[in-house]
Amino acid sequence: MAFELPKLPYATNALEPHIDTETMELHHGKHHATYVTNLNKALESHPDWAKHSVEDLLTHLNEIPETIRPAVRNNGGGHANHSMFWEILKVNNGQGPSGTLLAAINESFGSLDEFKTKFNDAGLKQFGSGWVFVVPVAQGGKLEILSRPNQDTPLMEGRTPIMGNDVWEHAYYVKYRNRRADYLAAWWNVVNWDAVQARFDKRSSK
Ligand code: MN
Repeated sequence: MAFELPKLPYATNALEPHIDTETMELHHGKHHATYVTNLNKALESHPDWAKHSVEDLLTHLNEIPETIRPAVRNNGGGHANHSMFWEILKVNNGQGPSGTLLAAINESFGSLDEFKTKFNDAGLKQFGSGWVFVVPVAQGGKLEILSRPNQDTPLMEGRTPIMGNDVWEHAYYVKYRNRRADYLAAWWNVVNWDAVQARFDKRSSK
């Protein structure tokens, strides 16, 4: 079974005005779709590896044949990152995190505002294309912010992010042009905290 582009869980205009319709159409329908197409292409000659989940492929990148490893890294990473990204977005009308997630944020970063500042700072400092992720630390229930270049993901280090923001220019250039900081600031309006909480719960129960 080849990998498939997941359907968006909402319409392409659902995140307006923070993320515009044209960006969503291009980002999901072209960029993410291309990662899926190219991942499938890379795996055509290796049907044994094509049976694995994308998380599995990324966790075991070192075991994947060298001839297709870069393609799996870039396109598998792109597929996994974007699949998470659509899942954790929704216009939140100012609703923030609560419960155990908020407690973990407060414990790890001091406050929600401090967390947002550190996350945006990491996004701004990521030179060129990449992502900013929030990942549970191995022990103690705390969280940490990691930035990674290109389509790299903490999955490659055996760690599952609970949320992440895409700082590739294709994620914001149509509306925000070169103003990555404005995009990073506006993005907090479209974080689906229930979806992030669900990912957090899933990780902390392991
Ligand atoms: Mn992207």
